[in-house]
Amino acid sequence: MNFHILTLFPDMVMQGLSTSIIGRAKDKGLLSIEAVNIRDYTLERHKKVDDYPYGGGAGMLMQAQPVYDAWKSVVDRIGYKPRTVYLTPQGPTFTQPMAKDLAQAKDLILLCGHYEGIDERVLEEIVTDYVSIGDYVLTGGELPAMVMVDAISRMVPGVLTNDESGSTESFEGNLLEYPQYSRPEEWMGKKVPSILLSGDHKKVDEWRREQAILRTIKRRPDLLKKAELTKKEQMKYQEYL
Ligand code: SAM
Repeated sequence: MNFHILTLFPDMVMQGLSTSIIGRAKDKGLLSIEAVNIRDYTLERHKKVDDYPYGGGAGMLMQAQPVYDAWKSVVDRIGYKPRTVYLTPQGPTFTQPMAKDLAQAKDLILLCGHYEGIDERVLEEIVTDYVSIGDYVLTGGELPAMVMVDAISRMVPGVLTNDESGSTESFEGNLLEYPQYSRPEEWMGKKVPSILLSGDHKKVDEWRREQAILRTIKRRPDLLKKAELTKKEQMKYQEYL
């Protein structure tokens, strides 16, 4: 899968995405990540990419021309128009199902805004998806783009090893993951739940399922309503549904 990040701060995204699991997947050729510097495409002789918004108001706006030409450079190179995501607080909030869906793409363009945002006309021209990473306003789209690349990359086959597999993680079936423990068996007087030491895999699975449901009830009751529960579980936890 190929990520093309349109940004005014290419070093920031490339440094942030060069280590650990994502860095290893890049080295293995499972992913490619490029940062396209929007400033390289401005036709303004002082390399400016922003200007005042018409109608007044605070702050500066990224202009249409450099954004469009940066986007077009990618489209011309790969030979088609891929899905183009504008990171914006005005989009629907990024979720695990969205990450899975976007991971089907061969190429994905992520457009990072800065200042007060980007001239609406170029957004209308190139953007296919508007995505927010949460209900707060950041200074730029770079951190959101890195969040998206990380979450989407984990869905690309081969990026996670078996040990890191995400199949039982939080949000699978709209439940949070159960609590987990590693050595030692006792730490600061707290013992690992005895069922996990029993070697009885069926009982362990049942315990984990129950813990996942209880944790979801406690921390994200809104999710439980969408969870895939058995008839028996629906009866047992009906007061939370
Ligand atoms: N004036 C814009 C508004 O009110 O919607 C906010 C602009 S924000 C200061 C600058 C840039 O940061 C945006 O263009 C966007 O790319 C990015 N950004 C800020 N908050 C974000 C969020 N929650 N999710 C995704 N991108 C965000």
